[in-house]
Amino acid sequence: MNNCLFCKIVNKDIPNYTIYEDDVCLAFLDISQATLGHALVISKDHYANLLEVPTNVLKHMMGIAQKIAKAEAHLPNVKGFNLLNNCNEAAGQTIMHFHIHIIPRYEGDDLVIKFQEHPLSSEEFVKLAAKIKEEF
Ligand code: 5GP
Ligand code: ZN
Repeated sequence: MNNCLFCKIVNKDIPNYTIYEDDVCLAFLDISQATLGHALVISKDHYANLLEVPTNVLKHMMGIAQKIAKAEAHLPNVKGFNLLNNCNEAAGQTIMHFHIHIIPRYEGDDLVIKFQEHPLSSEEFVKLAAKIKEEF
């Protein structure tokens, strides 16, 4: 897609530090390195986000994300991972081309992912679960 940064990376118009490539996806080091080894798996075809990517492509890419995590688990001091997808601007997506972040975690690293609690009553949980199930 014209003017899409990740399409330009797929087309090799913009250089990247590739760690994996096949017909469906490309994985490379994120320029920001939130932690050492922070990588992205992107689809080769342009899909805007998680809601647009075909399920078979998504499944394949999750398999590759796992493969990368298994490889990076051998890097010095890597103790765990966060896999992350930001879907739409409200969730912090800045590049509107579907991608999965693989973020290695280290003891005492400075990455902050904070879940604030918002308590619900059991009735509210039941209603909310029912509402979501209706939409499947
Ligand atoms: P998002 O915020 O859309 O979930 O993630 C986009 C990611 O792309 C960010 O983590 C950002 O650092 C990364 N990024 C942006 N531009 C480039 C680039 O030109 N090269 C690489 N390797 N990563 C980039
Ligand atoms: Zn694109």
